[in-house]
Amino acid sequence: MDLSEELEFLPPEKRKEYQEKALLEAKWFPNVQICHFKPIVEHFVFVTFYTHLDKKIVPMHLHKENAKKEIEEKAAELLPTIKWKIFSGTQHQADFEFQESFQVWNSIKKSEICKFYYLLVRLERLHPDSHEVKCDECLRMIVGHRYKCTECADYDLCQTCESKSLHSEHAMLRIVRDGITHIPRYITANAPRYVFPNFY
Ligand SMILES: [Zn+2]
Ligand SMILES: [Zn+2]
Repeated sequence: MDLSEELEFLPPEKRKEYQEKALLEAKWFPNVQICHFKPIVEHFVFVTFYTHLDKKIVPMHLHKENAKKEIEEKAAELLPTIKWKIFSGTQHQADFEFQESFQVWNSIKKSEICKFYYLLVRLERLHPDSHEVKCDECLRMIVGHRYKCTECADYDLCQTCESKSLHSEHAMLRIVRDGITHIPRYITANAPRYVFPNFY
């Protein structure tokens, strides 16, 4: 892995700092090995949370005994309207599901050049068939196509209500299945945050 690939695992605002630190340390301390006498039970880790749509990099303190719960809680905090299963993996694939904290802990890697810890987490919906979203007209859980308003904060219609031409003043996105229907980043990235709170 080269430096630019490594820096991808840091939040953009941290990249310069770590890169400069690595250059300095290479200059002044070329062969320093740090000895750890105590077993390590905590790491400061840059965790990349991938969904099928996007990614978010979050600095976290992870603890050996509790890492799975810490990751689950952070996922729930970042994307609260959806229940997630956590996997090892990236945007493109989920490798295996994290069942225990030691699996999370063992998946933490240390970058070779800048020496930061990082972890790649892939989030998958717990119930992929349901949208887990209520229709704002009939107030039922949406089964079938979900129509999401592109202007309002959190306004959705079910297929039946949409076919009655409700909410005709705004354009609606048709989502057949969350996670399958792709919403282009040029839409989510340019929208006000309240419209796509789950698609950072
Ligand atoms: Zn409805
Ligand atoms: Zn609207």
